[in-house]
Amino acid sequence: MAIHLEKQIESVIGHFKRGSRIVILTGAGISAESGIPTFRGKDGLWEKYDPNEVATAEALRLRPKNVWEMHDALRQTINSCEPNPAHFAIAELEKFLKNIVIITQNVDNKHQDAGSTSVLELHGNAWRVKCTVENKSWIDRTVPIKELPPRCSCGAILRPDVVFFGEQLDKDVLDEAYTEAARAEIMLVIGTSCVVTPAAYLPIIAKQSDAILIEINLEPSPIYSLFDASLCGKAGMIMPKLVKRLREKFE
Ligand code: NAD
Repeated sequence: MAIHLEKQIESVIGHFKRGSRIVILTGAGISAESGIPTFRGKDGLWEKYDPNEVATAEALRLRPKNVWEMHDALRQTINSCEPNPAHFAIAELEKFLKNIVIITQNVDNKHQDAGSTSVLELHGNAWRVKCTVENKSWIDRTVPIKELPPRCSCGAILRPDVVFFGEQLDKDVLDEAYTEAARAEIMLVIGTSCVVTPAAYLPIIAKQSDAILIEINLEPSPIYSLFDASLCGKAGMIMPKLVKRLREKFE
């Protein structure tokens, strides 16, 4: 590990106090090392698919099979990938520092698969399906889905219970995320380009409430000037080291 990064981790550790309220905001980058493609950048999901064709309510109405083909492919990828050391490090952190909330933009369930319990999912969950008529939702982990598009027992088409482009986030989840961000004393922002709103507002809200903001990313995000520290590198390499040092500090 570069000496610079080692020193940065040491200075970041200094901000944590026993009982600090910690919010961890994660994005697609934290799951990249699991093998799940991010949205943007090289090999990004939208290099392959046009979001207007496969990730909008209108597309679902006009071309449900296309939407489900993409979503079924994503579910197959998610199914074949395991949580990585960054997910496991966060789950471990929750065991010895109690005041932790994870707010994720990811739909892959990898935080929960790694053992995290306090997870707010801003953009839904790829394993959940929802009836487009009755609005009821449930978990269905069948991969691949036998017939596309899948249907509810009432006959209506199901939709993936994820937030499509142009749709509002679940109000209760978003309100809770805003509240947690405003109460945070430390916010770790991991693997997100911080360009998708309203998730990108959360670090700003935390900063306005005097939280210490720490970014972990391959490269500084567009809002890097907001951060008290930017740790550059892979989350799967940095998070286990950070959590190991926190465990040494608090145990
Ligand atoms: P994004 O694709 O816009 O940005 C990913 C960020 O992660 C980039 O800043 C990149 O530099 C960084 N990154 C890549 N690999 C990394 C690594 N190993 N360690 C640390 N950082 C790394 O992702 P976003 O900001 O989350 O964009 C938001 C949208 O992406 C959300 O709507 C989310 O639902 C969706 N998404 C989710 C998944 C998933 O569930 N795994 C996958 C693709 C897209």
